[in-house]
Amino acid sequence: MTLAAAPTVPLTGRFATELPELAVRWQAAEAPEPRLLVLNEPLAAELGLDPASLREPDGIGLLLGTHVPDGATPVAQAYAGHQFGMYSPRLGDGRALLLGEVAGSDGRLRDIHLKGSGRTPFARGGDGWAVVGPMLREYLVSEAMHALGVPTTRSLAVVATGRRVQRETVLPGALLTRVASSHLRVGTFQYARATGDTDLLRRLADHAIERHYPGAADAENPYRALFEAVVTAQASLVAQWMLLGFVHGVMNTDNMTISGETIDYGPCAFMDEFDPRSLYSSIDEGGRYAYGNQPAVAAWNLARFAETLLPLLHEDQEQAVELATESLERFTEQYGTAWVVGMRDKLGLAGDLADEQVSPLLEELMSLLERSRVDYTSFFRALGSAARGDVEPVRCLVADAGSLDAWLQRWRALNPDAERMDRVNPVYIPRNHLVEEALAAAYEDDLAPLHRLLEAVTAPYEERPDLERYASPAPEGFGPYRTFCGT
Ligand code: AMP
Ligand code: MG
Repeated sequence: MTLAAAPTVPLTGRFATELPELAVRWQAAEAPEPRLLVLNEPLAAELGLDPASLREPDGIGLLLGTHVPDGATPVAQAYAGHQFGMYSPRLGDGRALLLGEVAGSDGRLRDIHLKGSGRTPFARGGDGWAVVGPMLREYLVSEAMHALGVPTTRSLAVVATGRRVQRETVLPGALLTRVASSHLRVGTFQYARATGDTDLLRRLADHAIERHYPGAADAENPYRALFEAVVTAQASLVAQWMLLGFVHGVMNTDNMTISGETIDYGPCAFMDEFDPRSLYSSIDEGGRYAYGNQPAVAAWNLARFAETLLPLLHEDQEQAVELATESLERFTEQYGTAWVVGMRDKLGLAGDLADEQVSPLLEELMSLLERSRVDYTSFFRALGSAARGDVEPVRCLVADAGSLDAWLQRWRALNPDAERMDRVNPVYIPRNHLVEEALAAAYEDDLAPLHRLLEAVTAPYEERPDLERYASPAPEGFGPYRTFCGT
């Protein structure tokens, strides 16, 4: 009999050693009865981890953080943050740990992070646990986002812990092993700035530059270059969300990364019917984080980021504010450009078409979508057929097809490229009713629906006849959909 070797992972502790003021050494809690629910084998391989050994007890221990590889020092990370506009000076990893960084097969450093590993000194009133549904949800949606080409944290595994966790009812506990370019957040900078220790702030900024924007180090003002790089990354990220109809749901500053990756899939959802007021979070009563507000909220968060950097931008704080304001102003323009470029792709329109030809068409389309409350994802995919000459699929989706016809005619006169459209308009997204169905089955120990849905959404642009029900809009009577923050 051969025994699979325990996985060896060359984990570094760069964050912990370079920024000890932001790291509290901590140990993950033991799991009473661990059971691997889902493992991302391609991602494991990318990280140089052997998928077979991750399924063995020691491997599962690694995924849980209870079997710490030699040399690794798990830490809870400190951060602050504006939550729904209110500043909290001390948030931090209340139920999460950074296990360390690993250099993948491409040489890039990536964090291995645990969510649901027990209380830490940042736990405040929380119990430190996570439960099966929300962790599988994050796994599903983050992997779908990755397959859609959106920068995002990834999910390596979900392990059920065997612990019973009290929420509104008693639910099975679970832990998500997450992978990210880093877990540096706007909130990390807010925390560092609030300490008043400029040396710490500078080390944090240098660490961020080295990990994410090494080119900024050579700029005349590296910290301004860092800020501008984050502005650009976030403008592009939020444009991609908007183009796909994605609603993040909790865009607090502690949930906005410096890397430009989407992070923290809580009350997020893909919009079904097009409506800028779309919102799925049960706790966001004011609609602060509704679909249509996302670009403005991103700019607001970036302003908070800029404030933290002021001491590094210029000795004279008035001039620092001027520099930051000027750089922040680029967001609106960059976001707008990214959105228009993305919309041209979605409509298959050639890059050399003049703005005057495209802009009115886009404006009219957006108001048409809003008026007809059409299923956003199906609409764009069906437009691909229209570009090929068959307008029926898209006409069927719109109640008042008459108002669509004139628009279709003008758009088709511009010779849309259907193949290009099919590469950016997904067939399969993690639709809310499908996610709920998969999670409900998982609670009954049936993981088959989760795996089928994963199969659909991890190849989102490739239409497959046997997956037809995964492409259909929510059934009549589903909704209004609410996700709950009791994660
Ligand atoms: P989130 O809403 O997941 O972005 O978390 C916001 C803050 O609450 C972070 O500081 C988390 O670590 C903390 N938190 C969320 N849930 C729990 C929990 N069950 N136990 C301890 N801390 C938690
Ligand atoms: Mg968070």
